[in-house]
Amino acid sequence: AIGVVTTAPITDATPAATYAHTPFRGWQSDIDMPAQAVAQGCIDIARQLVEGEATPEVVLGAGLAYLKPEADGGRRKDGRDLVEAWRRRGGASTVVSDLPELTASTTPRLMGLFSNGALPADADRAPDSATPRLPDMTAAAIRALSQNPEGYLLVVEGAQIDSYHHANDPRRALAAVAEFSQAVDAARRLTDPADTLIIVTADHSHSLVLTAGSDRKAPLLGLAGADGAPNKALDDAPYPTLIYGTGPSPTRPQAVARADGSSDADALRSVAVPLSSAGHAGEDVPVYADGPQAYLVRGVIEPTYVFQLIRRALSL
Ligand SMILES: [Zn+2]
Repeated sequence: AIGVVTTAPITDATPAATYAHTPFRGWQSDIDMPAQAVAQGCIDIARQLVEGEATPEVVLGAGLAYLKPEADGGRRKDGRDLVEAWRRRGGASTVVSDLPELTASTTPRLMGLFSNGALPADADRAPDSATPRLPDMTAAAIRALSQNPEGYLLVVEGAQIDSYHHANDPRRALAAVAEFSQAVDAARRLTDPADTLIIVTADHSHSLVLTAGSDRKAPLLGLAGADGAPNKALDDAPYPTLIYGTGPSPTRPQAVARADGSSDADALRSVAVPLSSAGHAGEDVPVYADGPQAYLVRGVIEPTYVFQLIRRALSL
């Protein structure tokens, strides 16, 4: 069985790589397709979720609009309702629309797309919100997929770590890291390392740098420097604990600490090079693994090696 879980639209690049083949990540629904590509037989990513070689049994995340017709609040002009098409394709299936329905689901096939675009940031989520979080979706996916006696592949993406770093928003990006960590924890609790390989990695980093050195009292989202006395740069200006190499922030923090000693966490960020969206960075990223064949993850490896590890673990 195959499952895909994300906080982004289910047709976004990482989840799409689980079930679709396309030369361009932007071809997410029929209205995104150039006429020439259609004439050559290319189909949009959302349709491949239902019509592709590997239709996932579990689909949880966001991006409902890419699957629904315009008449039903979606983006599609071809009239297709791909949620209904997915439901008709297999056996016992559930389509859920909120957290209580997700938690109550017991079928081996499960779909839930909880927003037309991306899910709301975990940092902004109300405690009583009915929108599932990444750990909720991960747990529900494992409950559904583990009903298959032949095993499963589950891809879980903490998508908003990347999207909020693009916006130079460390508060929301770091909350998304914590949410992803809780999803890994849920997966570890619900599986047995004797029979389940868990691999945790990133496809790239961002240019976030900690400037406060070993100063453990420095507020992460405030100014570098302890006990209310900010560190000063050579131009005598205070600087934030966190800075980005590139992105939409100013090259100096817009707001420093207020007179009452508080600070505007969202404004305390700065960049070396202003860009409309922060660029990905190029250094090595970690790969963690536990379970059967986890010993094959060590040293410096190429990204495509991870694909080979997954294929080997599934005996494909
Ligand atoms: Zn990105």
